[in-house]
Amino acid sequence: MATAGVKQFKNFIGGEWVDAVSGQTFESVVPATGDVLGTFPRSGAEDVDRAVAAAKQAFADWRLVPAPERGTILLRFAQLLERDKQQLTDLMSHEMGKVLAEAGGDVQEAIDMAIYMAGEGRRMFGQTTPSELRDKFQMSVRLPVGVVGAITPWNFPIAIPAWKLTPALICGNTVVLKPAEDTPLLAERFVELLSEAGIPVGVVNIVHGFGEEAGDRLVRHPDVPVITFTGSRETGILVTKAAADNLKHVHLELGGKNGIIVMEDADLDLAAEGIAWSAFGTSGQRCTAASRVIVHEKVYDELAKRLVARAEAMRIGPGWEPDTDLGPVINRAAIEKIDAYSRIGEAEGAQLLTGGEAATDGDLAKGHYYRPTIFGRVDPEMRIAQEEIFGPTTALIPIADFDEAINVANGIRYGLSSAIFTRDVNRAFRAMRDLQTGITYINAGTTGAEVHLPFGGTKDTGNGHREAGNAALDVFTEWKSIYVDYSGKLQRAQIDNQ
Ligand code: NAD
Repeated sequence: MATAGVKQFKNFIGGEWVDAVSGQTFESVVPATGDVLGTFPRSGAEDVDRAVAAAKQAFADWRLVPAPERGTILLRFAQLLERDKQQLTDLMSHEMGKVLAEAGGDVQEAIDMAIYMAGEGRRMFGQTTPSELRDKFQMSVRLPVGVVGAITPWNFPIAIPAWKLTPALICGNTVVLKPAEDTPLLAERFVELLSEAGIPVGVVNIVHGFGEEAGDRLVRHPDVPVITFTGSRETGILVTKAAADNLKHVHLELGGKNGIIVMEDADLDLAAEGIAWSAFGTSGQRCTAASRVIVHEKVYDELAKRLVARAEAMRIGPGWEPDTDLGPVINRAAIEKIDAYSRIGEAEGAQLLTGGEAATDGDLAKGHYYRPTIFGRVDPEMRIAQEEIFGPTTALIPIADFDEAINVANGIRYGLSSAIFTRDVNRAFRAMRDLQTGITYINAGTTGAEVHLPFGGTKDTGNGHREAGNAALDVFTEWKSIYVDYSGKLQRAQIDNQ
């Protein structure tokens, strides 16, 4: 349904801005106020099919464009993101809700990634290695796979598309992006800037819409050999199953239940600051959010007191107001889910130390706000200590020693990020080795990845792939091994040299 007076946005397919074939639309809503930012095409199978056809056609030439030339376009894209950083930051604080400093960080991450991947255009190293036979040369090279289907969540609405599209593009693939339905305007700006940077027609396409409709079609489309997906574990399983019939490459970045260990020798001021930032930053809606704090009994009471004081001092409000500490969560369903977990925590017997309810004073009632929530004396097996809540809620779990801390930290299905606060270097090194996560921080919270190291998790957080750094190229390329025999005769490996 089109809404009168509200700007109508479109899909970008084969270089043209077009409506959904069905003419149907959906709205992007400001989580802080309920205002409508615009309407977007509610795309279906036909729209996805057109976008894939455009991307497939564009692949024929894009794969042949020299990678350094592709890199030049990505560098220009980085410069355009830099040019519009302030505007994108402001838009993100409205459409997604995060506070200005974090929204700026989200855009900066995309800039950093675009610069990094532009550089990959002049590296993309393969291997050369000696042959076991005389007069024979051999090497491996990376080749693009084809049309990449990219499906993204709303919590990093500029950074995550950059983490997926810039490596896909530098490797010579073309892309159909299906962004999250909660943040379509940011995705649309992202693609506009790529187009302005000089990405050829059809190389990047965007199809807005819902996961079960546009997303599912993209995952099943036979001409899309690679799916790169970031979202929840549950959706990741659906995507894997839907892609299985076509034996696609599926790259998954899923949920987390990240723990911070605080040992008795920790700098408690630093720990409290790191925990508050990791638990309540982005209103807890980060895959790396610290939703568990595994704390030594000896410092438990003191840390709990400091964390509660920090939580209660946070100013709740719209992300774009400069003194806001805690913005809204993404939508009404998120409030309901977070609140349901507060009730579950109470029913399980955890102590509610602060929060545990929506914030609805004055103008806050127009948006979706939840008070920073801390549960104390949480048993590691409770649901609030095991399941991803994705809101400003954290659980304090007391432990008696280092070994117990590691066991509790590892006693979950997810494996994204972990952290330990300690001044003991031996424990720090054991934690680096023994914590079963893709990322570990020493004396810092669970968030803060940089673009030149691999990003991703173990166990149910993913399926073995990584984003960022040059590990990201693995998802978007096939290795080809090439043997060149210049002996002028038939030489048989493993036979003629024995
Ligand atoms: P979600 O799984 O609900 O949706 C993610 C995307 O998948 C959206 O674009 C959605 O439209 C699409 N989708 C939904 N159903 C689909 C289907 N059946 N087929 C194809 N696509 C479908 O997740 P969300 O709420 O947008 O994001 C929050 C989740 O993302 C959390 O679990 C969080 O931990 C995770 N996340 C992980 C990382 C990481 O790098 N590991 C980063 C950010 C967020």
